[in-house]
Amino acid sequence: MRPLSASPLKDLETRARSAEIMARARALFPGGVNSPVRAFRGVGGEPIVAARGEGARIWDVDGKEYIDFVLSWGPLVLGHASPIVLDALERTMAEGTSFGMPTELEVQLGELIRARMPHVEMMRFVSSGTEATMSAVRLARAFTGRDAILKFEGCYHGHADSFLARAGSGVATLGLPDSPGVPAALASLTLTAPFNDLDAAKGLVKRTKRGIAAIIVEPIVGNSGFIPPDRGFLEGLRALADNAGALLIFDEVMTGFRIAPGGARERFGVTADLTTLGKVIGGGLPVALYGGRRDVMERIAPLGPVYQAGTLSGNPLAMAAGLATLSTLTAALHTKIEKRTAALVKGLQKIGVDLGVPLEAGHAGSMWGFFFTEKPVRNFADAKASDLELFRRFFRAALDRGVYLAPSPFEACFMSAAHGDDEVGTALERMREALEDAIA
Ligand code: PLP
Repeated sequence: MRPLSASPLKDLETRARSAEIMARARALFPGGVNSPVRAFRGVGGEPIVAARGEGARIWDVDGKEYIDFVLSWGPLVLGHASPIVLDALERTMAEGTSFGMPTELEVQLGELIRARMPHVEMMRFVSSGTEATMSAVRLARAFTGRDAILKFEGCYHGHADSFLARAGSGVATLGLPDSPGVPAALASLTLTAPFNDLDAAKGLVKRTKRGIAAIIVEPIVGNSGFIPPDRGFLEGLRALADNAGALLIFDEVMTGFRIAPGGARERFGVTADLTTLGKVIGGGLPVALYGGRRDVMERIAPLGPVYQAGTLSGNPLAMAAGLATLSTLTAALHTKIEKRTAALVKGLQKIGVDLGVPLEAGHAGSMWGFFFTEKPVRNFADAKASDLELFRRFFRAALDRGVYLAPSPFEACFMSAAHGDDEVGTALERMREALEDAIA
């Protein structure tokens, strides 16, 4: 395939329609986007504007084709425009698009999720991961009667005020350490420790006189790039929460139905009190949930006093897409996707070795990532110390060759059931050329 120049000027020539649409978008939306990382600030150049997707591939408005490893930031575990999901949507849509009333679809999806994650005894559907984590923390505060929470640097839990402290990915990509507009009084209730540093977490909990309501963590970090927990870290957090009388919240918005069929509990044998899910459970439509221990969830209105509501929560189309996706994502299919992900990651590691480029790549289930670095990445500081400039050059060279990776060194990538051996092989060939180009 003919490599294209990575210069923004060349971008404008070859992606003329994308550039024209982005120019109009910039007059409407801050930075031309409706979510910051889409603006490509972390990698430079013009964003590509999506026209359509099918299976493992997307096409931009200029007709260029890409093998997609972003998959709408994780939800599309069956790939783009999965006929299974589209059929379910079509059938459901014919009956109406929203009722604001209970439906059987919500019950079916809820039962399916609880069957895979039995510790999610009771749950509440919402429409975004931000809503899920924000509500889970409100609930934890109400349940414990305490205000402070502990989170980890580089973990992103959505954009609610309490979480915009050292929040990884989007915030880091833009170089904003924190967000203006977050009241100092609220920010002071969010304590942050480095990921994988149990002693730092213990120290913070010990020093917090009024106690901690919750410890919230991404069990595998996906928002500082892909960073797995050290052996014993999650177990340590479980014990720390128990000793402190705090709730342990696993934010599985990204890891849920990606790192194992039953999520972090299955993969690590550690059970959270509350779990947040999103992305995959909506199969590409806006769905998330928070759930967990029945005695805690029973505090939610109307059963209990903790208020949380949503006009479109449990929307039938979203439920149908989630149900179709999760019913198809059997344990066997999960294993199949995991194997292909392992092959991709192994291939990428080999490219690094062959070209003499220090590269750390890893995966869990169908979630994967890499850093250009010589030493293992255990936390956000390590991630930031990796070669970010090389990442940018590699990203753009890969994009020009039709491989769409997450447009930030601080984001994880994904695989879908639609990524076959062909896509893996082709992507690896193109990534080899891209890395050769990036180091030339
Ligand atoms: N939690 C985690 C772990 C996430 O990765 C994200 C989004 O990427 C969120 C929460 C927020 O979800 P949403 O973007 O749906 O609000």
